[in-house]
Amino acid sequence: MAKFDAVVIGSGLGGLCSAFIMAKEGMSVCVLEKNRQFGGSLQIFSRDKAIFDTGVHYLGGLDEGQNLNRYFKYFGLMDKLRLQKLDLDGYDHISFEGHPKIYKHAQGYENFIDVLAQDFPHQRKQLEIYVKTINDICASFPLYNLGSGLKDFNDDWYRTTSVKDYVENLFTDPLLAKIIGANNMLYCGNELTPFFIHAVVVNSYMQSAYRCIDGSSQIAKLMVDGIKSMGGVVLNYHEVSGFNTSGDEITSVQMTDGKTIESKWVISGIDFKKLIQIIGPTHFRKAYRNRIQNLENTPGLFLMSAVFKPNTVKRMNNNVYHYVNDNVWDSAKHTEQDWPRGFGAFPTYTSKNPDYTENIVLMAYMHYHEVEKWKDTVSTVPKNINSRGQDYEAFKLERSNRLLKIIEKRMPEVTSNIQSFTNATPLTYRDYIGSTDGTSYGFAKDFRLPMSSFFTSRTKIKNLLITGQDLNLHGVLGVTISAVATCSEIFGHPYLINKIKEAS
Ligand SMILES: Cc1cc2nc3c(=O)[nH]c(=O)nc-3n(C[C@H](O)[C@H](O)[C@H](O)COP(=O)(O)OP(=O)(O)OC[C@H]3O[C@@H](n4cnc5c(N)ncnc54)[C@H](O)[C@@H]3O)c2cc1C
Repeated sequence: MAKFDAVVIGSGLGGLCSAFIMAKEGMSVCVLEKNRQFGGSLQIFSRDKAIFDTGVHYLGGLDEGQNLNRYFKYFGLMDKLRLQKLDLDGYDHISFEGHPKIYKHAQGYENFIDVLAQDFPHQRKQLEIYVKTINDICASFPLYNLGSGLKDFNDDWYRTTSVKDYVENLFTDPLLAKIIGANNMLYCGNELTPFFIHAVVVNSYMQSAYRCIDGSSQIAKLMVDGIKSMGGVVLNYHEVSGFNTSGDEITSVQMTDGKTIESKWVISGIDFKKLIQIIGPTHFRKAYRNRIQNLENTPGLFLMSAVFKPNTVKRMNNNVYHYVNDNVWDSAKHTEQDWPRGFGAFPTYTSKNPDYTENIVLMAYMHYHEVEKWKDTVSTVPKNINSRGQDYEAFKLERSNRLLKIIEKRMPEVTSNIQSFTNATPLTYRDYIGSTDGTSYGFAKDFRLPMSSFFTSRTKIKNLLITGQDLNLHGVLGVTISAVATCSEIFGHPYLINKIKEAS
C-alpha cells in the first residue's frame, strides 16, 4: 500500500476530526478502524426496528455563533446535520425520590437563571455568580472559544477546586446545589471532579442543547464522506496491533492480519492505555507506562435501550436525571445491594414518528469489576444475544429489573409501555470501543492531582501524536477540540485556528 502522510488509528470523532483537518491541509491520510461501523461512540445499532445511539445522546453549543457550531461548520457538517432542539425551558429534568417536584435546566444563560430562580428566588444572586463564573472559566480556554494562543493552567483555581465544594459553598440552599450538580453523569462527576470539567461540559448545553434525529452516526458518516471527498482513505475491519520503528520514529503501522502501512505521522485516537500496550515496552520507560496504566478511568455504564409499544409515549423533548439517594456526587459509589443510586433517561428522536417517542436509553453507573467475571467472553456484535453465556444474560436481566423498579416510580409511562429492550455493560464498551475496562469517558480527573491525567498530544515517539477523549476532555465538543490541539502540533496553532475561524 502507498505511503501516507498520516495514518489515524481509530475512527472515533477525535480521529475523524484529525483526519479531516490533515486532508483539508493537503496531506494524504488513512484512517484505520477495527470495527465495521465508523465513529466509535457515534455508532448506532437497531433493535426491533428502532435506532439507538450508543454514546452520544445530546450535544451542546450548536446554535449559530456557538463553539461546536463553528467547529462543525469547518468540518462541513452544520448544513447537513439533522438536529432537534431540546426544550428551551428544560432540556434536563432533575428529580429526587420521595420529592415530587421536577427541576429544570433551561437553555440560554438568562433563561437558566430565570427558570431556577422561580423555584429558588432567594438564590438568584448565586445563580448569576455561578453562570458568570462558568462563562469566565470557559473564556479562559482558548480553543473552547476558538481564540488563539495556549495558556498554562497549572495555577488556576478551577483546576484545584472540586465542583462539589464550589457549588456547596456558593449555594446556601443545599437543594439547589444538588440540582446544579445533578446532570453530572455527563462527565462522571464525583467529589473529586475539578470545577472546570463541570464548567466546560455544562456550559455548552446551557448555551443550547440538541439531539440528533435518527441517531448520531450521521456525524461519523458525514465526516467519513468529507475525508474521502478530499482523497482520504477510511478503512473498516483494520485493527492496529503493532508498530515498526526506527530510532524514535514509527515507520509503519501493523494490522492484526499482518499487513503494514507506512506513514510519516501516526495519530492515535484510541484508548491511551490500549495504545501503550500496543506499543509495548521498548519506547516508553516503565515508570511512564505504569503511570498511565494506573491512572483511574471514569466508571462504565449499564444501558437499557428500550423500544416502546407503538404510539404510546408522547414525544419527550428533554432528558431526565433522577436520584434515589441524597448525594448527587456519589452515585457511582453504589454497592451491589443499593444499585442503582439513580439513573439518566435519554429519549431518542425519530423522524418517522415525530409525535411519539419510539425508544429510550436508560443508564446507570456500572463498574468493570461488576462484570469482570465475564471478561474472557467476547460479544459477537451485532448479534450479541447470549454470546457471553446464560449467567451474564441473567445478570443483565436482574439489573434491568432493578433499574425498572426505580424508573417506574419516576416515569411510569416509560416502564408500562416497554415492548422490548436490550442491554450494554462495560464489557460491551470494552469490546466495541477497544478500551481496557469499558470506561465511559476515559481518564477520571481529580482536583487534588490536577495535572495527573493531562497530556500533550506529543509523545516520546517523534511522529506519534495522541487525540480523542484521553487527551484532555471527552464528549463531542471535547474530542473535537482535542483534534484541533493535536493537529496544531503539525500545522501550528494560530494558522489552524484562523482556518477554522474563516470557515465559520
Ligand atoms: C454511554 C455514553 C454516553 C455518552 N453520551 C454523550 C453525549 O450525550 N454527548 C457527548 O458529547 N458525549 C457523550 N459521550 C462521550 C463521547 O461519546 C466520547 O467522549 C467521544 O465520542 C469519544 O471519541 P474518541 O475520539 O475518543 O473515540 P472513541 O469514540 O473512543 O472511538 C475510538 C475508536 O477507535 C477504534 N479502535 C480502538 N482500538 C483500535 C485499534 N487497535 N485499531 C483500530 N481501531 C481501533 C474503536 O473501534 C473506536 O471506533 C458518551 C459516552 C458514552 C460511553
